[in-house]
Formats: sequence, structure tokens, C-alpha cells
Amino acid sequence: MNIDDQIQFWERALKHAEAKHLIGPASMREFAYYRDVVPYKYNLRRAREKGGLLICWGAFDCLTYPQSKCANGHETCSEHRASCMLCKASE
Ligand SMILES: [Zn+2]
Ligand SMILES: [Zn+2]
Repeated sequence: MNIDDQIQFWERALKHAEAKHLIGPASMREFAYYRDVVPYKYNLRRAREKGGLLICWGAFDCLTYPQSKCANGHETCSEHRASCMLCKASE
């Protein structure tokens, strides 16, 4: 699979995972999100990064294409500009 195929593959797989995790009981939803959805987001972010696309450093599960930067110049989406994870981790 080339990188574009990989990105499409993980985008499709993520949609399924997101739909599936909503089927379970509401009380389990947060747990199910971290167990069943986040790994797909992680893989999609990795694939996008490998494909040369920018990823938002504001949250480990953010998939919004970054169009702004935090105070230290890391790519973030506008929502995460003030909560950059790279900055937080290096404090
Ligand atoms: Zn973000
Ligand atoms: Zn930052």
C-alpha cells in the first residue's frame, strides 16, 4: 500500500470504529473510545505524518488539519493553539 492508500485505509477504518463504539452502553462509551477509537486516530495521524501532511500537536486524538501555531511555533489547529501538547510535555 502506498501512503495515500494507507491514509484512506485508516480514514475508513476510523469511521467504522467510531460508529461501532457508539453502539455499546453509554456508561462504557469513554472507555470504549480510548480502547477502540483512539488507536485508529493514532494510526491515521501517523499515516498522514508519513505522507507529509501536518498534524495538530494540540491533542493526541485531534485530526483537524493545523492552520495555526502555538506560541512556540508548533503546528496546531485553531482550537488547540493555547493547549499545545508538545509545549506541555516539555515543561
Ligand atoms: Zn487540534
Ligand atoms: Zn507548542
